Amino acid sequence: MTLGEMIVLKTAEDLDRMRRAGQLAARALEAVTRAARSGVSTAALDRIAEEFIRRHRGIPSFKNYRGFPKSICTSVDEEVVHGIPGPRVLQAGEIVSIDLGVLLDGFHADVAKTVPVGDVSPPVRRLLEVAEEALARGIAEARPGARLGDVSWAIQAVVEAAGFSAVRDFAGHGIGRQLHEDPQVPNVGRPGTGSPLVVGMTLAIEPMVNMGGADVVIEEDGWTVRTRDRSLSAHAEHTVAITPDGPEILTGRNGAGTIY
Ligand code: MG
Repeated sequence: MTLGEMIVLKTAEDLDRMRRAGQLAARALEAVTRAARSGVSTAALDRIAEEFIRRHRGIPSFKNYRGFPKSICTSVDEEVVHGIPGPRVLQAGEIVSIDLGVLLDGFHADVAKTVPVGDVSPPVRRLLEVAEEALARGIAEARPGARLGDVSWAIQAVVEAAGFSAVRDFAGHGIGRQLHEDPQVPNVGRPGTGSPLVVGMTLAIEPMVNMGGADVVIEEDGWTVRTRDRSLSAHAEHTVAITPDGPEILTGRNGAGTIY
């Protein structure tokens, strides 16, 4: 079933599968974030994720997606998203965004979290908290009767109230049988505008929060997005279903379930 352009609504059976994909993604993310310590390479984190996902019958959604060579994205410090795991060794005081997708039984789930490596300074901790808070507030708006702009505005408001910038050049997205489906879910917007949110929509909501300006550039590897001013950036993401009772986080760590 489609709505308007190409927004694919999910059936109850689809959502059951997405819940299972989401739970596997959440557990894989937990395994990777636990391993993200000083002295560990980003390539090692990638291996942990890929092995975990495949051991549980999943396929890493990102591997070979439009030529992306690895199973997860690891974006360190001023890198925003789409960093490619490799020989880089994490150092205490850095922050690393881990972003991963799982394909299970025909459906994708997408989740990300930015974690500190060892101790980080209070302003950096604040950046990580604001990314999570922006995600939570965006998710809280994802209910029937609201509009996409309500989600975007909720994210932008939290980010800007903290004195940070929301990235405009990259956005969240619909998700389901395809990793990226309509609609786009921008991290800035105006309340009361955009597509109406209806039961059966599934969205990957993913604020990207820069400590400095909003502008980003793509590195020469063709993938890694970093802040133009080289300020730090944090990223957080959940796959969310819009249910009659409100938003359900499919990639929640304590099991899928309705929140708010
Ligand atoms: Mg995503």
